[in-house]
Amino acid sequence: MQEQKEVLSSLIEFLEPEIGKNAIKDWFPNAKVVYENGYVLKFPNKFVYQWANNHYAKQICLAANKIGVDIKISYAQEGETSPVASVSSEADFNSNFTFDNFIVGKSNEMAFEAASRVAKSKNIIFNPLFIYGGVGLGKTHLMHAIANLKRQLFPKKRITYLSAEEFMNSFIRALQQRSVMSFKEEFRSADILIIDDFQFLGKKEATQEEFFHTFNSLLEQKKQLIISADQPPSDLPGIEARLKSRLGWGLVVDVHPASYELRLSILKAKAEKMQIEIEDEVITYIAETMQNSIRELEGALIRVVKFSEWMKRPLNLELAEQVLQNISNRSPKKPEEILKFVSKHMQVEIEELKGASRKRPIVRARQKAVYILRNFSAASYITIAKILGNKDHTSIMYAEQQAKKFIKEDAMFAHEIKEIEEKLNRH
Ligand code: ADP
Ligand code: MG
Repeated sequence: MQEQKEVLSSLIEFLEPEIGKNAIKDWFPNAKVVYENGYVLKFPNKFVYQWANNHYAKQICLAANKIGVDIKISYAQEGETSPVASVSSEADFNSNFTFDNFIVGKSNEMAFEAASRVAKSKNIIFNPLFIYGGVGLGKTHLMHAIANLKRQLFPKKRITYLSAEEFMNSFIRALQQRSVMSFKEEFRSADILIIDDFQFLGKKEATQEEFFHTFNSLLEQKKQLIISADQPPSDLPGIEARLKSRLGWGLVVDVHPASYELRLSILKAKAEKMQIEIEDEVITYIAETMQNSIRELEGALIRVVKFSEWMKRPLNLELAEQVLQNISNRSPKKPEEILKFVSKHMQVEIEELKGASRKRPIVRARQKAVYILRNFSAASYITIAKILGNKDHTSIMYAEQQAKKFIKEDAMFAHEIKEIEEKLNRH
């Protein structure tokens, strides 16, 4: 099928700069992408699969992430359905995750500053460095950036990066293979140990115990530890108290969801890196719509760009709205219909909402309409501004802000919006 070929070619397009032309030539000529309850990258046989999975799983996973699909890796087998291996191994540092590629704003400046100081410093300045925050906000990026820069500045240092899950897996393997001593040695000989997604060790007592000893040993030897998690040390569920306390000994920094301005700058930087020309109103729309994680923000940009490329359609606001309405959490009702419904319910003529009247009841009605339009359609501020009598889109943004304020301050205002929204939900 057409689309699966497209997924493969986009995947390779993003993989090539990561793993090199030769690797693509050696390992990917007979790979296929098929769809079996999700995309599967299939290598022609087990041998090729094992090699590719051991060496490139991480990069494949990241490339898939970039084109906005989840992908599993497997190989073709005759006569039976093939077992599907999932991508997990984080073999090396991602060379795209650097400090230069990290856009700094208020929400992440503290984490950025701490990470770059740790990376540049020959001596230990805080130990451990603990970075926490929600999904897709740049924790892994910062940790790889530390590893990349450290390796460049201090090539002799042994840097070990792994997720807490991998730490646990290799501990369990060591137990099974009675090689706990070499496990201990391996981790205790690191100069810099970076453990990602520490929350995974919640309720894994034996692994925590082992980690606790590794931790103490590294600290004693003045080796740098860097840890990330989705919450601050003190709030981590299922983690022993003494470990929580120790995790907070050094410097604890957080990453917050990005502000609108930061989302805009990130999108502009990514677009430039992808070497695509993209209109401001499209960028603005994506930044407005994807508010939660930077991974989703990036994914949305790529989806829009790829969709335009694949479908050979101009990359404009209309296309972006179409592509993103499925992934934004708004239900895709037509904005014109919503406006009609709202105007009828409020008993304010559509023409008045579209007009320029500054009379208070009209202004309030307009604010409610904007608020509901934003909640119930996938329309951008620009589109809403057009529908509401070709206004300036900043006035629409302002109207929404005001509505949010009145919802908090004015019970009647809030009640009426709620009532209309409930009716609209049943409509
Ligand atoms: P986390 O580990 O917090 O879940 P990641 O570090 O994996 O998040 O980030 C998700 C994606 O967003 C990555 O592709 C990363 O490069 C990108 N990203 C996150 N923060 C930034 C930033 N400030 N500037 C540029 N890209 C960012
Ligand atoms: Mg991460």
